[in-house]
Amino acid sequence: MDKKMMISLVIPVYNEEANLAHLIERLRPVMQKMGRNYEIIFVDDGSRDNSLAILKSFLIYPEVRVVELTRNYGQHAAIFSGFSVVRGDIVITLDADLQNPPEEIPHLVRVMEEEDYDVVGTIRKERKDSFLRTFPSRIINGITRKMTKVNMSDWGCMLRAYRRNVVERMVNCHEHSTFIPALATYFSKKVTEIEVGHEERYAGESNYSLRKLINLQFDLVSSFSEFPLKFIMFAGIAMAFLGISFGILLGIARLVYGAHWAAQGIFTLFAILFAFVGFQFFALGVIGEYIGRIYREVRKRPEYMIERIYPTDENRRICIS
Ligand code: UDP
Ligand code: MG
Repeated sequence: MDKKMMISLVIPVYNEEANLAHLIERLRPVMQKMGRNYEIIFVDDGSRDNSLAILKSFLIYPEVRVVELTRNYGQHAAIFSGFSVVRGDIVITLDADLQNPPEEIPHLVRVMEEEDYDVVGTIRKERKDSFLRTFPSRIINGITRKMTKVNMSDWGCMLRAYRRNVVERMVNCHEHSTFIPALATYFSKKVTEIEVGHEERYAGESNYSLRKLINLQFDLVSSFSEFPLKFIMFAGIAMAFLGISFGILLGIARLVYGAHWAAQGIFTLFAILFAFVGFQFFALGVIGEYIGRIYREVRKRPEYMIERIYPTDENRRICIS
């Protein structure tokens, strides 16, 4: 095997002006010490602050490339756009907010090469996030494990290494609403995960609101299974069965205790009815989500749109160390 495989870093950036200078300061020494060809691809995901200008100023370094998207498409779409232009044999994704220590990169690469893995995932040793951010993640991790039937313990950590062929498979599958770590695992043969450190966000605040997290979770569940639809069907059957049994029970009680009792029972019936109505709306909502997603797939609108890729001259050298 070629021992000097080229490395591509893909870093999505959305309003990270306060972090970028520190990020590059920490990244470059780590990469240079590894002594191989590498490139750093920053994807500007429609930042509304000064991030793009800062990224462009990094173009003085020959290994830096910047992908400018037309607007904000979300972290995973941004990473996909970076994937579509990578040139390295090993592709590593990480966050721009320095929550993933760049110093872990050599470790990732070592594990990948020594054991010939297709994907190296990571577990955050001591997660430095607020409870509101970690609690939904715990649920997401649990559900994902069930859905994809792959036993990864931490899906949310984006400091991950992928082999080029896995990245190409992902780019070629043209699916919307995808969750990269799950998709990659789905497309690869040999997968592992290692522990890495996790740090506090250097500056700014998390871009993930509860709404975005719920959306991401639905992306994950709906693109890997029809479980929610099946669940609704079975729950519906169970409820109908319960409803019929309860009706029979009420009928018998009416016969035993007389009409007076039955009139008071009306309120019980209302309560039950509301439970059913609530469930129906929930079911409609889930089905609506699926239909919305089908609609998006059918329209085939690209998941992201690249405005420009810097540097604009194609022949610029990849950094040789
Ligand atoms: N990000 C992005 N587009 C978005 C939201 C986030 O490119 O719409 C980037 C962000 O700049 C960061 C990474 O994705 O590099 C992770 O985002 P964040 O730190 O907000 O998420 P968390 O660490 O809370 O999961
Ligand atoms: Mg973060």
